[in-house]
Amino acid sequence: MHETSLARKIIEEVVKVTGEKASRVRRVRVAVRPPATVMAEALREGFDLLKKESLLAGAVLEISEGEMVFFCRDCRRESSGKKMISSCPHCGSEALRLARQGEVYIESIDFAP
Ligand SMILES: [Zn+2]
Repeated sequence: MHETSLARKIIEEVVKVTGEKASRVRRVRVAVRPPATVMAEALREGFDLLKKESLLAGAVLEISEGEMVFFCRDCRRESSGKKMISSCPHCGSEALRLARQGEVYIESIDFAP
C-alpha cells in the first residue's frame, strides 16, 4: 500500500536525521506538494502503527499542504503557490514549468524538552 510504505519511509528518514535524539521526537510535520496526493488518514494510520516498532513511538504526525514550485524559462526565476498558475508573477511570461515534482517531504521535527 502506497501510504504504508510512505509512512515507513518517513519514519526511516526521521530516525536517520535525528540520530540519538530520535526517541525524543514529539511531532513530525510533513508537507504534501501537489500534484502528489496522499490519503492523509491512511498515512497517519500507517505512521501510528509503524512508529510502535521504531524509536518514534512517542511522535505525532502532522500533514500539511505543500506548495508547487514553478520555474520561468524567460526570467529564470522561481515562484511558488498552492495552485497552478498560468503566468509568471515576475515577468508575466507563460513559459512556466514545474520546477519540482510532486512529493511528500519532512517540513519540521519537534523534540520534547
Ligand atoms: Zn518570468
